[in-house]
Amino acid sequence: MPKSKSPTCAKCPGVVCHPSIKAEEKPPFDKVPNFCPMINMNDVIQNAMTKYDDPDTLEFARQASIQEFECYEQTPEGRRTKNPRILELIQFSDKCGYKKLGLAFCAGLSDEAKKLTEILENHGFEVVSVRCKVGAIPKERIGIKPEEKIAGPASYESMCNPITQAEILNAEKVDFAIILGLCIGHDTLFIKNCQVPMTVIAVKDRVTGHNPLAALYTINSYYKRLAKPR
Ligand code: SF4
Repeated sequence: MPKSKSPTCAKCPGVVCHPSIKAEEKPPFDKVPNFCPMINMNDVIQNAMTKYDDPDTLEFARQASIQEFECYEQTPEGRRTKNPRILELIQFSDKCGYKKLGLAFCAGLSDEAKKLTEILENHGFEVVSVRCKVGAIPKERIGIKPEEKIAGPASYESMCNPITQAEILNAEKVDFAIILGLCIGHDTLFIKNCQVPMTVIAVKDRVTGHNPLAALYTINSYYKRLAKPR
């Protein structure tokens, strides 16, 4: 089948790459849609798969998959989930042998950072944490105008400093970095500059209790306006 489109997996029923078949059966590849990367980008898939041949990557992927498996349990009523993400963070860190965790948190989630640190320390981890405002560098340093400051033109406003957060955690040689509530874009800079394995415990969403999917779950009611074409 000729390549017709870029992948649009989000619009696919997804039954071919995630089929309900027995282990010894083959997925029905002849039933994929014409935008499927499994037919249009098979070379990319094959190249990507070679990365799992690196022993460290293979072991990391294996542990991540076991972690996924352990988040479910079989009950007389059927399969059900059991682990919140914080517990997963602890379990996965144990699996990987991580001892020193690095928390890059937003000033707006300082209470959450403190509570999370206490939990992680109670589970035996060393926790290094860095607030987004580290450096106390004024926003003027990155070209912000007085009228673009949240607290008003006359206020001293420290810039969010995700590159420095990342560099501090790099210098501390933490085993695993954790993003807690960094703003959109600031998280991008952190991810770009963080040189240790990292994960996200929460993303910033100021109006949904840091649960951006809440707006999707209410897209047919309170957040209907999001669905309107521009
Ligand atoms: S990989 Fe192919 S079958 Fe799977 S969701 Fe994407 S388009 Fe659909």
